[in-house]
Amino acid sequence: MQHQTPEAPYALVTRTADISAARHGRRAKCLQRLIRLDLPIPATVALPFETVRAVAAGHQPDLAAIMSHFGSGGLLSVRPSSQEQDWGGPGAVLNIGINDARREALARRHGAEAAAALHLAFVETWAVQVARLDPDAFVPPQGAGPEETLRAALAAYAAEADEPFPQDPQAQLAGVLRAMARAWEGTSARLLRQARGAPEDAGLGLVVQDMSLALGGDADGSGVIQFVSSETGRPQMTGRFLPGGQGREALGAERALYLAQDPRGPSLAERAPDAVEALQHMGTVCRARLREEMQIEFTLSDGALAVLDAVPVPRSSRAAVRIAVALAEDGVISHEEAVMRIEPGAVTELLHPRIDPAAARDRVAKGIAASPGAATGRLAFSGAAAQAMRAQGEAPLLVGRETAPEDIRGLSAAAGVVTERGGMSSHAAVIARGLGIPCVVGASGMRCDLRKRQLTVGGRTFREGDEMTVDGTAGVLLAGAVEMLPPAPGEGAETLLAWADAARDIGVRANADTPEDARQARRFGAEGIGLCRTEHMVFEETRLTLLREMIFAEDAEERRAAVVRLLPLQQADFADIFRVMHGAPVCLRLFDPPLHEFLPATREGLRDLASALGKPLSDVMRRARDLAEFNPMLGMRGVRLGIALPEIYDMQARAILRAVNAVAAEGIDVAPEIMIPLVSARREVEIVTAALAAAAERVKSETGAAPRYSVGVMVETPRAALRAGEIAQRCDFMSFGTNDLTQMTYGLSRDDAGRFMDVYVRQGVWPEDPFLRLDTEGVGELLTIAAERARAAHPGIALSLCGEHGGNGESIEFCRQAGFDYVSCSPFRVPVARLAAARLAIASRSGPPMPSRP
Ligand code: PEP
Ligand code: MG
Repeated sequence: MQHQTPEAPYALVTRTADISAARHGRRAKCLQRLIRLDLPIPATVALPFETVRAVAAGHQPDLAAIMSHFGSGGLLSVRPSSQEQDWGGPGAVLNIGINDARREALARRHGAEAAAALHLAFVETWAVQVARLDPDAFVPPQGAGPEETLRAALAAYAAEADEPFPQDPQAQLAGVLRAMARAWEGTSARLLRQARGAPEDAGLGLVVQDMSLALGGDADGSGVIQFVSSETGRPQMTGRFLPGGQGREALGAERALYLAQDPRGPSLAERAPDAVEALQHMGTVCRARLREEMQIEFTLSDGALAVLDAVPVPRSSRAAVRIAVALAEDGVISHEEAVMRIEPGAVTELLHPRIDPAAARDRVAKGIAASPGAATGRLAFSGAAAQAMRAQGEAPLLVGRETAPEDIRGLSAAAGVVTERGGMSSHAAVIARGLGIPCVVGASGMRCDLRKRQLTVGGRTFREGDEMTVDGTAGVLLAGAVEMLPPAPGEGAETLLAWADAARDIGVRANADTPEDARQARRFGAEGIGLCRTEHMVFEETRLTLLREMIFAEDAEERRAAVVRLLPLQQADFADIFRVMHGAPVCLRLFDPPLHEFLPATREGLRDLASALGKPLSDVMRRARDLAEFNPMLGMRGVRLGIALPEIYDMQARAILRAVNAVAAEGIDVAPEIMIPLVSARREVEIVTAALAAAAERVKSETGAAPRYSVGVMVETPRAALRAGEIAQRCDFMSFGTNDLTQMTYGLSRDDAGRFMDVYVRQGVWPEDPFLRLDTEGVGELLTIAAERARAAHPGIALSLCGEHGGNGESIEFCRQAGFDYVSCSPFRVPVARLAAARLAIASRSGPPMPSRP
């Protein structure tokens, strides 16, 4: 009798049986597809999720009926079949049904040793996985063969379990099903699969299959074969074959044969060339019909092949890209499907070194994963120490409470950064992402003592120069050096991203502050620069001194004289960026941060500054005190600075517009955009745009040509969002600075949120760190209101988002739906954003869903 209705507690897998991945799991569905491809699959019964849930609760299906589908006297295997391959599941159990009588029957055909080895394998699996006995009780007696070891194991079992080993095949099957069903419901299995994206109620199917025993001659055994490399994705026949082996044993066995002829040892191709040829043919059929590179588990018995199972080839991110692109290039799947097959996170792995997943690690602290990648280096507790280490050829890891703009040189020298405080958009995080170095911020439990130059965490102390490893992808700090895997862009990544570009419907620009960043942005495929934080250009020593002179100027005249010396330097930088971007838009944001951030933070630094300026230390200290603000993030920064000290914006405007004319005169296209930060009122925009127009007039009279430029407003205060209608009438574009907008909407400091973020997210107060994932409800509502009002007042106004959220898939989806023109993020996140945007566009298009995969 066939059991194929949706309510059926099990189904014999045939060409026509009603099997679905959503009810029976992927493995069961894949086996059905293999049967439809005429591959030699042994009899298989699939148990749906419902049945397995019932088994876990103590209700077995009709086992006698299930067993009636298999020949009498044969052995069975049970394998897990979850809905997605990487949600895992309990290990397969083989040789179910073996008992004394069947062992003796097998011994008559295949010899006592082979039969005992099978029985022993099952006793050991049962003892650990089903009876949950201590594996140490089953250590084989020294020098004993399989028969003696089996006797010892059966005796040990009886002693430990207080009952003889079960002889009844049906009882054995019941025990295995129950153990596997319960293992799936265990806490660790649940947490593991949820970490891989499985929903709370993910089900497990089970596949019961006739064992194909391959115990005969030299060429009998089992093997695993695939036709591409798991590491690179290139065509390459790999796998092993183990004479007399079972399941996947061949992969770890020393005496396993190679598959193709190999100078390192004997191969299956020499012993059974026809079988290898037939397997190759099956691989080709699977690739074309299942539209995937499959890894096939097979047995060979008396020259006959049986395929027990096939799963998509396990693969590195690099191989995944190569395989998807090759399938699309061969016309097996579409370009869009290739794009859909690669998770954006996989691209991150291609661009950064990462910790070898197999490496041992000594975790010291956990924080926010602020910039991906991993680096081993020596602890440096100041920018100067980091620079000194770098000069010695060492890789410094900059550690501290937090970083400030004046640490930029230390950050540039660092191989990685770890800060005690901070969040996703704090200074260290933003700069590290821009530099493409790993960064962990808000490392809870870590205490830095800058005076003693040591950090203590979990009762351990680490000192300057100690070797540690920062994993910015996982957000952890590890003691010592750890095995790394290098970045591996591999083949196909560019092709895949080009297909992604063709599919996406929102622009992707980069936040880039220097010509080098701009080059990086171009290499990563950015369509322009969405945010150049021009204050980041003055952190170099000479410029910083000039800026400090300006800060210390007594009056406007003196200030103008000081600032004008910065003009040619800024002009040269802007011109370089325009040249690199070659006509692609470049959005230059006028100075944003509070002035005191440019002053030294230490007494020693103030003394150096006093001597550089030729002023008494007391004057310098007084001025520093005057500039200090209780709450600088809400103080005199952004456009407030531009209005209160207009000489700075005037200098920047002239530097930009002169650079525009100079580069245009070289015959290079320039598309400059000037952006005003931290606006909260229309009048601010009017004042600055008037100043920009005056600067443009001046540049025109100096050079004879009117420089072209557009003016935009950075919407990063709630008031600017609410008053977007009137502000939009005064500008050409608006870009949402969601770092500040999030900070101000929540009343949540960008730099201090790391301290309690973990608790908040764990307790479900916020679903995620709002600096990491855009709060589409609160901040999102402000964005929507602003966009609507801006468009109503200024139809066609360009809208974008340039906060750190720009590189995050969920935020990109919000921006797509709100009809923004582009997002802008750190250069290293540009490829991820391109892929994420494309996947969203493809998924949102109506039309038939992607054909399902094995
Ligand atoms: C923002 O506030 O979102 C932004 C991009 O500007 P910054 O991070 O420089 O404040
Ligand atoms: Mg801002």
